[in-house]
Amino acid sequence: MSNRPGEPDLDAPEAPPDDAHRDEAPLETLSPEERLFRMRHSAAHVLAEAVIELFPEGKYAIGPPIEHGFYYDFDLPRPLTPEDLERIERRMRRTIKRNVPIEGQWIPKDEARAIFADQPYKLELIDEIDDETVGYFRHAEFDDLCEGRHMEQTGQVGAFTLTHVSGAYWRGDERRPMLQRVYGALFPTQEELDAYLAAREEAERRDHRRLGRELDLFSTHEEYGPGLIYWHPKGARVRLEMEELWRNEHLDAGYELVYTPHTGRSTLWEQSGHLDFYAESMYSPMDVDGSDFYMKPMNCPFHIQIYKNARRSYRELPMRLAELGTVYRYERSGTLHGMLRVRGFTQDDAHIICTPDQVEDEIVGVVELFLRVLGAFGFHEVRARLSTRPDEKYVGAVEDWDLAETSLRAALERTGLAYEVDEGEGAFYGPKIDFDLVDALGRDWQCSTVQFDFNLPERFEMGYIAEDGQEHRPFMVHRALYGSIERFMGILIEHYAGALPLWLAPVQATVIPIADRHVEYAGTVRDALAARRLRVEVDDGGDRMGAKIRKAQLQKVPYMLVVGDREAEGGAVSLRHRALGDLGPTPLAEAVDRIAHERDTRAPDPEPEEAA
Ligand SMILES: [Zn+2]
Ligand SMILES: [Zn+2]
Repeated sequence: MSNRPGEPDLDAPEAPPDDAHRDEAPLETLSPEERLFRMRHSAAHVLAEAVIELFPEGKYAIGPPIEHGFYYDFDLPRPLTPEDLERIERRMRRTIKRNVPIEGQWIPKDEARAIFADQPYKLELIDEIDDETVGYFRHAEFDDLCEGRHMEQTGQVGAFTLTHVSGAYWRGDERRPMLQRVYGALFPTQEELDAYLAAREEAERRDHRRLGRELDLFSTHEEYGPGLIYWHPKGARVRLEMEELWRNEHLDAGYELVYTPHTGRSTLWEQSGHLDFYAESMYSPMDVDGSDFYMKPMNCPFHIQIYKNARRSYRELPMRLAELGTVYRYERSGTLHGMLRVRGFTQDDAHIICTPDQVEDEIVGVVELFLRVLGAFGFHEVRARLSTRPDEKYVGAVEDWDLAETSLRAALERTGLAYEVDEGEGAFYGPKIDFDLVDALGRDWQCSTVQFDFNLPERFEMGYIAEDGQEHRPFMVHRALYGSIERFMGILIEHYAGALPLWLAPVQATVIPIADRHVEYAGTVRDALAARRLRVEVDDGGDRMGAKIRKAQLQKVPYMLVVGDREAEGGAVSLRHRALGDLGPTPLAEAVDRIAHERDTRAPDPEPEEAA
């Protein structure tokens, strides 16, 4: 049981099922969703009763059912400990076993104020209720203010466990008191609860925030700006590999790399329309010589300036401009989440500007590039969603939309990728394909996008001289492969539970001298690996060999090269792999070749079964 700050999604109350209003309906006629809602809701009351029994002077605030369970907020004289949670849970089980009725009625507000006279949070809630009467529910002599939807008896709440406590401001307002939010997980059966808890534990083991700390990859510094990532040296090594692969693949595919400013005058964002439609997602402007300058939330307007810097001919098209462009977007602080949801991030952005004839081949090229690079990271299961023209609000000509949609479909068909179509779900300015990765836990992550734009070429009056000697409007496509380098890194860490494939691993090999007298030979081994540009460290600390191996394992280092007297004499190493274990004595040159080959082929970790 640990404190886990900020789980915004889990705290959101779920939408009520259709039969939510049937408070008087017999339980057996309810939908499974409504029954589960009532189980979780009833358990929250039982939780409040148990907590107030332990802390009679405590104040209780609100306690709704949520996805996976329920919570209740309390104002208590001291922070709850894990032992408290056990005691609370025992008391809850006692009330559940007693199987007492949960009974409710509607009473005048004054009567309610008298009942909750020493409960300030309840009094505040009563004052805000518009009706003359308020719902008053009671079980086992415990009173609560509530709008109904319970099980009939406390014995009907299902299988539950209290999971953790975290801080939560009363009404989510940081100027109001900080309360203690006690969370419980609850499911109809013990099997479902166990399955949920196992999945939760696995997700926690892979949590990129925790692994980011343990593996020294990155940090955030809330006090100096929430949602801003500090990449540590080891994280930066991974990022360099991501960027290098990205650059090489884009250069090979005929992209030009560009660099553009981080900020631009308000006039740019007025012309692009961002100040009309996107202002609330932008950082506030800064004043420079009497003008408002904005941090860029997107790179597009800058790439368009590069395009427009000269009169363009069809002979220059397609033009593919790519940039690892760092952008800043305002997100509410409650929604920020490690590297996955941030305020500053680097988009691997590119814009393709082309003629109508070129559209289809360009899109096919983009989709092939995406699949090739995602495959290199070990993401072979990719789902695509095509979003088409909205029925009413859209810009651009229908023929252009049709051409764009046809080319998107053709690209998906030519690459053989299965896809869904979201009819009418495209943005007002163009159709798109979103690509979702599927990770090791079967979770979907939206990352890559290819998006047509019929809006910006108009706004910026982009043109090219076609073969007919006339000026025409080009097609423009925005596309990002990683989406955001930060987010992609977070996904990678969770997908691999920190054990990144060797080509990405921040440290690819650790040399472990058994005793001090082997440190010199360890240096020779290190130099042999470093000469092949492998990322290698020597652990010449005072730990025993076993402890050094454990340390390297915990740091998820792919190879450990243990060296003692025999290895030093024979020009060999005793090779270990993080997943395969002991691989036995190996000539140094052979070990170096093996590791370099694994890096050069961007091989996934070998499977333990394959080890001979
Ligand atoms: Zn209730
Ligand atoms: Zn763009």
